[in-house]
Amino acid sequence: MNLIQHFIDGKKVSGSSDRKGKVFNPAIGKQESEVILGSKADLNLAVEKAKKAFEEWSNKPPIQRARIIFKYKELVEKNSEELIKYIVSEHGKVFEDARGSLTRGLEVVEFACGIPQMLKGDFTENVGTNIDSWSVRQPLGVCAGITPFNFPAMVPMWMFPMAIACGNTFILKPSEKDPSCPLRLAELFSEAGLPDGVLNVVNGDKEVVDAILENKDIPAVSFVGSTPIAKYIYENAAKNEKRVQALGGAKNHCVVMPDCDLDQAVNGLMGAAYGSAGERCMAQSVAVAVGNIGDKLVNELTKKVEALKIGPGMDKSSEMGPLVTKEHLEKVKGYVDLGVKEGAKLIVDGRDIKLQGYENGYYIGGCLFDYVKKDMRIYKEEIFGPVLSVVRAKDFDEAVQLVNDHEFGNGTSIYTRDGDSGRTFANKIKIGMVGINIPIPVPVAFHSFGGWKRSLFGDQHMHGPEGVRFYTKLKTITSRWPSGMRSNPEFIMPTMK
Ligand code: NAD
Repeated sequence: MNLIQHFIDGKKVSGSSDRKGKVFNPAIGKQESEVILGSKADLNLAVEKAKKAFEEWSNKPPIQRARIIFKYKELVEKNSEELIKYIVSEHGKVFEDARGSLTRGLEVVEFACGIPQMLKGDFTENVGTNIDSWSVRQPLGVCAGITPFNFPAMVPMWMFPMAIACGNTFILKPSEKDPSCPLRLAELFSEAGLPDGVLNVVNGDKEVVDAILENKDIPAVSFVGSTPIAKYIYENAAKNEKRVQALGGAKNHCVVMPDCDLDQAVNGLMGAAYGSAGERCMAQSVAVAVGNIGDKLVNELTKKVEALKIGPGMDKSSEMGPLVTKEHLEKVKGYVDLGVKEGAKLIVDGRDIKLQGYENGYYIGGCLFDYVKKDMRIYKEEIFGPVLSVVRAKDFDEAVQLVNDHEFGNGTSIYTRDGDSGRTFANKIKIGMVGINIPIPVPVAFHSFGGWKRSLFGDQHMHGPEGVRFYTKLKTITSRWPSGMRSNPEFIMPTMK
């Protein structure tokens, strides 16, 4: 059985814990690896090493840090097939989708290469007579990241390239469900020339997470995962005086206006609802059919959902792979059962799909509900599977109200040909990431990613300019050099004369 270890101080190590987690290949429903579930002592050791590495790394000129990041980009590209295979074999998503997610992570690495420009600071000559003032952003120290199963490459890459470029050192605690890809990503950074101890991976579960939250030498925690855990991280990290950004779950609405290009809307929705088997925080799990578009929309969707090609991620013809674990498959099926009980109309039922040769894989076909109402649990809760709910709204205002009243606020889209509807939607909607005729409006690396409401606890979004702000603190220096001018003690609040 393949054993997945930690990566601490530039080496793979087993640490002090004898607890192990099972890592499955969801396409065949078989355990292929075990991952060491680290202890508090393992985390503390990694922090010690990262603290030591911080002394030199934080002093390295940003241009030299950037050169290592450039090499890292090349190495990740060179090893991309291997990284993608890890994603497919432990997460289940289809090969080209896994490649897309890795590319999105690489774009953050590319952005991080520009760190010298981003850390330039501000300078004002003569804020007072012969007095200059300037502001710089300095690194925080040992930062930590805790990441979910659904993007084992992209989400860690939202965090560590930015933190490290800014001069911090980093401890990553990846999901215990698919830890091979993040571990390899850390090794590759080391191969690119990153000094030992700058990037460490400690595998594990709640024990490592709690050790991160308690460790006094970690000043900042980034988290991505479900809302209850995001809230737990936010509260406990703040209680321990840490800076925190905690991104949570989602229920993303796609508003389909009667004047839209229906083909474009249906194709957009298909990818956004069923891509990665719905296991995306930006998946669109609710289609709001406005006015008289409902029946046409449902008819077109039905044909396409029934025709979805479901199969293992390594099969190039598959459009949708399995869910990540058996437990998750049961949970998603349970939600479909619940929707039927709650009175929604199940138009396409994917619960009983069987794939020849893959009978033990964690597959479910695409499911489509119509006439979903806002008080149903299948509307209110995140299902995180290939289940699309169609809700009918009489007009634009009712659709906007629905989106704004929902507890989650990650992403949303509108499909329309009307500029006024698109602009008003973007202006009024209480959501962090908005698409106009764009199905999954994930901001590119040089903008920043984050939701509103209970999809993000904290003040800053991830990567892009917000990433630089999160992983640095501001220092403002005011200075005067002796110039022969006489000065006397001053006992009043200094003002700039
Ligand atoms: P999860 O919350 O179960 O796990 C996330 C991380 O928290 C993992 O590293 C896990 O080990 C750790 N964890 C789990 N339970 C814990 C506990 N009780 N105490 C401390 N740590 C704990 O999430 P998941 O199932 O891995 O990922 C799916 C969720 O992530 C979905 O809700 C999805 O919407 C969300 N997500 C959000 C974004 C975003 O940007 N907002 C992006 C990706 C995924």
